[in-house]
Amino acid sequence: MARYRGSVCRLCRRENLKMFLKGDRCYSDKCAFDRRGYAPGQHGQRRRGKISDYGIQLREKQKVKRMYGLSEKQFRLLFEKADRQKGITGSNLLILLERRLDNVVYRLGLVNSRTQGRHFVRHNHFLINNKKVNIPSLLIKVSDVIEVREKSRKLQALEDSLGAVVRRGVPNWLDLEKENLKGMVKSLPAREDLTMPINEQLIVELYSK
Ligand code: SF4
Repeated sequence: MARYRGSVCRLCRRENLKMFLKGDRCYSDKCAFDRRGYAPGQHGQRRRGKISDYGIQLREKQKVKRMYGLSEKQFRLLFEKADRQKGITGSNLLILLERRLDNVVYRLGLVNSRTQGRHFVRHNHFLINNKKVNIPSLLIKVSDVIEVREKSRKLQALEDSLGAVVRRGVPNWLDLEKENLKGMVKSLPAREDLTMPINEQLIVELYSK
């Protein structure tokens, strides 16, 4: 399935949640969700009707998939991986999503959105444990060191993102050395580290049908 290329603000409005997909703009008074907090489209302002159990599960899956910017196929594969792991499938899924490299550089504040994280990883701006990587879906491990490559250190976008990280904060499972443009994975994320309103059990129920 092709990646969504339309306005990401429409996705926030569709899911009725501020998903912070656009970096700095999300914190400004230009945020489309703050200005028009109803669903997009001609009938968006109509009251949302009764929604079936299937509809609720589907919306939860779409919301999480869109938050992390994954295609249906990528999301499904990650779910299957989570299902094969020991423990609670829903929590496993969220932890796998958090461990993706494009998310980790976003969490560290080296980029201002996961989309930008994906672009920057693809364009070889980062090293992991001193090795070049260009795979946004790579899953980081404990003790991995992620740093900006020497040739990329002057990028204005990086400076801007690091300036904004104070507002978002770095999660406690990561460590950021801001002056060295470097981060380390102190531990793997736990379910409690995810503060976005997600009911992952609904996704498990949807995929278990
Ligand atoms: Fe969502 Fe950010 Fe757009 Fe607001 S500005 S609607 S939070 S993507």
